Amino acid sequence: MFRTRFAPSPTGFLHEGHGLAAMKAFCAAEEAGGECLLRIEDIDQTRCRPEFERAIYEDLSWLGFSWPEPVRRQSDHFSDYEAVLAQLKSMGLVYRSFLSRKEIAADLMASDVGLSPAGEYPYPGPLHSMSEDEEEARLDAGDAFSWRLSLDRCRDYLGTEYERLSFVEMWAGPDGQTGEIAASPHWLGDVILARKDTPTSYHLAVTHDDAQQEITHIVRGQDLFHSTHIHVLLQRLLGWPTPEYCHHHLLFGADGKKLSKSAGAATLRSLKNEGATAGELRRLWNA
Ligand code: GLU
Repeated sequence: MFRTRFAPSPTGFLHEGHGLAAMKAFCAAEEAGGECLLRIEDIDQTRCRPEFERAIYEDLSWLGFSWPEPVRRQSDHFSDYEAVLAQLKSMGLVYRSFLSRKEIAADLMASDVGLSPAGEYPYPGPLHSMSEDEEEARLDAGDAFSWRLSLDRCRDYLGTEYERLSFVEMWAGPDGQTGEIAASPHWLGDVILARKDTPTSYHLAVTHDDAQQEITHIVRGQDLFHSTHIHVLLQRLLGWPTPEYCHHHLLFGADGKKLSKSAGAATLRSLKNEGATAGELRRLWNA
């Protein structure tokens, strides 16, 4: 059965960009005779708030969507993500990085890494390895660190399969890509999978949950297209299936930038208060 999900983070009120994403996911499920789950991605406990979670339920209901209960909330599953990280540790595929943002930026300057199609300078891994003694000393000092996925080690681990990783794009990537697409994890580099005090990152939690919830189709915005290239690698390493991907277009503001909370996008509730109807908005997003 076709199963997709809408997976907002309760860090603010939903805006039109979320509305479009929700409509794409819920309508794709309806058209396919399948279902769309709702998942609350609240791993960042410093920014997520219960009133925003309540508002998600209200706004989505107002738009006319419904979803199976219970809703999965990622903060209820931190121990599951810890177990996945432990598995990757035992496979020797992750490493602790004590580097600050500034130190990473300096390493990037010193290496010849160029801007990747993901629009960032991917971190290629440490220039200098850390001795076990030094690592112990940093741990004893209580220093902050993150757990990063080593792409070099993943390549060694998977051998030629690493080069053959791919996924199927059913709709379109940002440059209109469709069909079978070769995965390029190096576009994002050695991504962070967890931090000293946070048991998971977006990449780890989202791939784990999509597998756990048996998601067959990932419907989400083209802004996450490059993340898919890392997710396909994680799925292969952990023996999880790769769903089909349906990346949809984004809504842009008058400044030409993707609608976002920080750029002051109008929230769905403010549009509702100004008299907009759900039907009108859905027609607008469909245009
Ligand atoms: N939680 C992510 C967001 O709010 C979406 C994750 C996904 O669809 O993979 O942007």
